[in-house]
Amino acid sequence: MRAAVFTEYGEPLDVRNVEKPDLDPDGVVIETEACGICRSDWHGWMNDLPYELEAGQIMGHEPAGHVVEVGEEVEHIREGDHVAIPFNLSDGTCPMCRNGYANICDDGVSLGFTPQAPGAWAEELHVPTADHNAVILPDGVSSVDMAGLGCRFMTAFHGLAHKADVSAGDWVAIHGCGGVGLSAVHIADALGASVVAVDLFDEKLDLATDLGARATINASETDDVPGEVQGITNGGADVAVDALGIATTCQNSVRSLGKLGQHVQIGITTAEEDGEISLPTDLMVRKEIEFIGSLGMQPARYDEIFSMIEAGKVDPSKIISETVSLEDTSEKLQAMTDYETVGIPVISEF
Ligand SMILES: [Zn+2]
Ligand SMILES: [Zn+2]
Repeated sequence: MRAAVFTEYGEPLDVRNVEKPDLDPDGVVIETEACGICRSDWHGWMNDLPYELEAGQIMGHEPAGHVVEVGEEVEHIREGDHVAIPFNLSDGTCPMCRNGYANICDDGVSLGFTPQAPGAWAEELHVPTADHNAVILPDGVSSVDMAGLGCRFMTAFHGLAHKADVSAGDWVAIHGCGGVGLSAVHIADALGASVVAVDLFDEKLDLATDLGARATINASETDDVPGEVQGITNGGADVAVDALGIATTCQNSVRSLGKLGQHVQIGITTAEEDGEISLPTDLMVRKEIEFIGSLGMQPARYDEIFSMIEAGKVDPSKIISETVSLEDTSEKLQAMTDYETVGIPVISEF
């Protein structure tokens, strides 16, 4: 089968024929019909993640497709099921999984970043522990539209709906309008909040407005993003999200909050921060600001998103900017270095 294979950091992926995946007794194989290209892929490709990528790794962690092979121990997933796969695969059996925190599974593996979990930039994908990790999609949705569901969309949803207490009438400031940031704009609006979107590019801010942002701030045109947010929200946002993971967006996010505000950290840092960002701690004390980390979402909670999709309140397809082929992947990764991609590019030709 064809796959886009990692060779060296920052170098084009090698699109070539590789062995089809083997089927585990508790796994399924899906025919990949769509897979997003994500900033996390860029982080891996740029050697920004806490673990190393090995040459030969098939990348890609935002897949949707139909099940074509089912292991003998699988009970709930059947051939022909239309599924999406979360980027953070879990075992379903550790204490975290059994207590409802599969997104931070003790034995979790990142799809498309380790040899144990070859990714979805390939014609076929093996999904381990499929009863636990495969999410059956509702009727009537397309694989392309659901390609970002198992990464940015559910990550933004979990951060806003589960970790922070976003409620109707709140002001929510989203710092960074890449794929996860735009998803957060759309979801916060659907949850009844008023959204301030912040980015350096007008094109992304225009899309944020289309997705429901009430106000936008172009950070390249002001020295004081937090002050602007404080002004728009009349005293500070109730919830602010760093959807990028650089020191500026993280610190701006915390500083844009009002008293009792909640900062949600979704973006992971780049090589420059190396996992550490200093914070305005005295300000956090004085305002009783909470700093909340948020990673992915438990597969068992996807129904909450599906009911919002069915009710017409959210539409993950609105974040998708274009469909591309497997050959275009390296070019899209390169474009992310200069923040040139808008919304989510999705591979739909393998
Ligand atoms: Zn992703
Ligand atoms: Zn687990």
